[in-house]
Amino acid sequence: MAVLDVIQTPAFQQRFFFLAKRFIAGETVAQAMDAVAVINAQGMTATLDFLGEDVIARPEAERTRDAYFELLEAIRARGVETNVSVKLTAMGLLVDEDFALANLRSVLQAASHNRDPFVRIDMEGSAVTDATLRIFERAYAETRNVGPVLQAYLKRTPADVEHMIALGARVRLCKGAYSEPADIAYKDMPAIRSHYLRSAESLLERGNYPGIATHDERIIAAVETFTRERGIGPERFEFQMLYGVRPELQRRLVSDGYRVRVYVPYGTHWAGYFYRRITERRENAFFALRSMLHR
Ligand SMILES: Cc1cc2nc3c(=O)[nH]c(=O)nc-3n(C[C@H](O)[C@H](O)[C@H](O)COP(=O)(O)OP(=O)(O)OC[C@H]3O[C@@H](n4cnc5c(N)ncnc54)[C@H](O)[C@@H]3O)c2cc1C
Repeated sequence: MAVLDVIQTPAFQQRFFFLAKRFIAGETVAQAMDAVAVINAQGMTATLDFLGEDVIARPEAERTRDAYFELLEAIRARGVETNVSVKLTAMGLLVDEDFALANLRSVLQAASHNRDPFVRIDMEGSAVTDATLRIFERAYAETRNVGPVLQAYLKRTPADVEHMIALGARVRLCKGAYSEPADIAYKDMPAIRSHYLRSAESLLERGNYPGIATHDERIIAAVETFTRERGIGPERFEFQMLYGVRPELQRRLVSDGYRVRVYVPYGTHWAGYFYRRITERRENAFFALRSMLHR
């Protein structure tokens, strides 16, 4: 059995939530609201993600959609500054594209009552890149309150960046968190970083309020210099970081006058997300192992 199969079992997830706690705000909406309130108090906004992915049954996708209704209502009631992020495979993309679009539409409709009505569509593995962008464009034809994520490690991304700039879409740019083959993705960090920067510069100069999603200090420093030199004010973009990752850097950017949004995942289906966080940083795997041994 592969590691991901083991951590995806309900028994593991019930017993070992303490391992994931550093990266996940909690298992309930109330805990997610508390985490966002703390983030807001530190001068940052958030985007909330109800954890789950790769759903293959309609009822489960509908439960995810309903969880977003509950979440959006809680955001209104609590008055916190946050929008939401969704994964289309949690909304039924692997079942049927039209079905996933219908679920996304109802989330967008529910979000339209919120102070921040924006819904971000996370980008998943390359098997669903085209379908995700197709659904994004169909939703975007109906409302501007939706935006995609582009992954700098994919060789196709510069073309996607240009297309999104032409559409005027709000893009989140990240490096990419999935294991992709070398024919479609850059595998070494210097190449990923330089492609990230090139796409970031295009989005910063000509795009619509891009989300610069990274904890990479070299990229962040380059973006700070680029925007300063080109006269791109801090109101024209935002930095985005993950809950529990580099909190001191988040605070430093806020105190330097930048906008920072924190991606806050919550819920009981944390295995896939947690697995990506521990496999992208060797120290996190050691940290998880140490926590298990010292319990
Ligand atoms: C707001 C946000 C949204 C994202 N959305 C998506 C998405 O939709 N699709 C997708 O494929 N990927 C997404 N990602 C993940 C992204 O693709 C990367 O996998 C992740 O951000 C790590 O890359 P990095 O740019 O931070 O650089 P890295 O080179 O990985 O990290 C730079 C430094 O940041 C710190 N760091 C980074 N990651 C961790 C970690 N897990 N634990 C502890 N320290 C860490 C370390 O100090 C590291 O040296 C998102 C990331 C962010 C910040």
